[in-house]
Amino acid sequence: MSVAKIIIQTLRRNIILTSGMAAVITAAIVTSLLPPLILERMINLLADGTGLSLLTVFSYFLTAALSGILDAFKEVLINAFGQKMTHAVRTGMTDKLRRLPASYFTDNDPGATASRIVGDVSTVDGLFTSGIISMAADLCRVISILYVVLSRNAGLFVLLTAVLPFIFLFTRRVQKRMLSSQLANREAASEVNQEIPETIACLRTVRILHGEAFMEKRYGTSIEKSFQAQRKTNFYDAVYSPVIVSVSALITGIIMAASAANEFFSMSAGTAAAMIAYVSGFFGPIDSIGMEIQNVQAAVAGVKRINAFLSEPEMDVPDDNPVPVTAAAELSHVTFSYTGEEREVLHDLSFSVMEGERITLAGRTGAGKSTLVKLIAGLYSPSSGNITVFGRNPVSLHDSERRSTIGYVEQSFHLIPGSVGEQVSLHDPEVSYDEIRRALETVGLLETVDSLPQGMDTPCTGDLFSQGHFQLLSIARATVKNPKLLLLDEITANLDYGTEAQVIKALNEASGNRTVISVSHRLAGTRTVYV
Ligand code: ATP
Ligand code: MG
Repeated sequence: MSVAKIIIQTLRRNIILTSGMAAVITAAIVTSLLPPLILERMINLLADGTGLSLLTVFSYFLTAALSGILDAFKEVLINAFGQKMTHAVRTGMTDKLRRLPASYFTDNDPGATASRIVGDVSTVDGLFTSGIISMAADLCRVISILYVVLSRNAGLFVLLTAVLPFIFLFTRRVQKRMLSSQLANREAASEVNQEIPETIACLRTVRILHGEAFMEKRYGTSIEKSFQAQRKTNFYDAVYSPVIVSVSALITGIIMAASAANEFFSMSAGTAAAMIAYVSGFFGPIDSIGMEIQNVQAAVAGVKRINAFLSEPEMDVPDDNPVPVTAAAELSHVTFSYTGEEREVLHDLSFSVMEGERITLAGRTGAGKSTLVKLIAGLYSPSSGNITVFGRNPVSLHDSERRSTIGYVEQSFHLIPGSVGEQVSLHDPEVSYDEIRRALETVGLLETVDSLPQGMDTPCTGDLFSQGHFQLLSIARATVKNPKLLLLDEITANLDYGTEAQVIKALNEASGNRTVISVSHRLAGTRTVYV
């Protein structure tokens, strides 16, 4: 995101305001050109001795009034537009703020960030309220005045275009000087502001060290600096207007004199009046353009700083679009009885387990906890009701998907014919050698297995391991394909304290961030479901 992008988006979103503003600006420029033209006509009519119609007089008044109203309306719209932009940029920046990592706030001074959001955005506001748009409007006004003048009196046009660059340069120079002396004044004033409390607070030290003269001199220097800067500002302020008025008067004088003496400059009395009106209205926009250039420059610097802020690296997870939490397992009105049995082991059971959640199933012996786990594992189908695991029916999961979706650690280990490694892979050719080793390592069995005569290839018999080790092997078997959901059925029930601790450690390692449904009172889940 950059300021330019935010601006374009806001322009698109406020298309009515934007086009309305463009229309009003155009109308304001056009109507501001009309009164002198009507005035020209009125004076010409008077000079000819023809009477003035009331309509002409009224239209002069109307266009002059309309021009004022449109000007005011233009300002309102430009301000509203600027506010929209400021709002959008600030919103973009605060959104960004939410996505910044903690390190940004330790590495950056909070004051600097605040001044980005407050001060720099104000310069962007200035870009619209008193910068680019007003500059375009003023430029159009200057150009249209020149155009009308050209159509009436080529001589005056030449004169105005000749004088324009000088007036512009003079204006810019005065404005730059004024700005720099204003800055110098502000600097000096802040020095004074700092010195006064400092002197008062350290009054005793100043006296003891006889620093009065030094402090006085320092204060005097700052005050003098401020005074000089202020004087400069006042000087330029005082000089500018008279110069412009004189130039304007000079041009008017020249044009009048030339009009009387030279064919090229000659014009009617009405045109002369209109030209005087145009000349006097010519320098206002030039003065404004100078200020607007200044505002645009300040805004460009502000935009650069805002863009630097907007391109700060963000946190990994954008919390704008939080990842929707989906249900890992969802049970709705599940009722189950074993085939051939009338008794319902589970009756109308509904609950869901969200992704990443760890829940514990509790209930008395024979309540149906193991049965429920088998149902979720997809080993049985409910008699009625519905079970989904990650949105799928667990019974219909294809073998290749099953192990990477559901890991099931049974209450007791079931030995299968084959090697130790095959106890983990379950003869699945898709389980690689490395995956088996990693799973054994996770549960803390790798060293034990490696110490066997043939390592992983040692044929597995019931007396090869202790009960605890078989339990660990069972966990390795369940987690070898990195399943998203882990089902654990009271796996620590028959273990001694030391082995149990090892199994729990292995389980915590194997659980990671996955969803865990366990039948146990030892693996504390975040929620307990009673069966
Ligand atoms: P425990 O705490 O003792 O492990 P449990 O809550 O896990 O008990 P289950 O093993 O789910 O209970 O058994 C629930 C009921 O279903 C019991 O009455 C049990 O006898 C019965 N049962 C379990 N397995 C079968 C089966 N394969 N066929 C028929 N009935 C069964
Ligand atoms: Mg059980």
